[in-house]
Amino acid sequence: TIGMLALDAKGNISGACTTSGMAFKLHGRVGDSPIIGAGLYVDNEVGGATSTGVGEEVIRNVGSFLVVELMRQGLSPEDACKEAVNRIIRKKPETAKKIQVGFLAINKKGEYGAYAIQEGFSFAVCNADKQDLLIPGKSFY
Ligand code: ASP
Repeated sequence: TIGMLALDAKGNISGACTTSGMAFKLHGRVGDSPIIGAGLYVDNEVGGATSTGVGEEVIRNVGSFLVVELMRQGLSPEDACKEAVNRIIRKKPETAKKIQVGFLAINKKGEYGAYAIQEGFSFAVCNADKQDLLIPGKSFY
């Protein structure tokens, strides 16, 4: 999945994501990307979030909605992503050891963060100064 979140000069947040789905998926499988609240969620009062990885686990936890709601409660984008990852791990620790799920989030202040189950999840940031930054996301394992 490629997920994108944007904050414009007026403070409006938008998001989009696209995916080819999982390798060897069953015909007709619907992953998390096309489901609002799972693979992508934006609330212009709070912020936005998007996910990558095993969509079934993201759908079960309504992951991107969860990240935005955690930010609404005051968590930073990174801490909100971390808590969403932790929730997936807590529910299925043995499964989670073997899969990847990552979340990326931004809030109204322009703060951003990401967190994944496994290492190797990185994200890029382009700010108003046109600086492109490639940032390694933090991970549980
Ligand atoms: N999240 C996608 C899915 O489950 C897979 C991906 O990250 O591309 O369909």
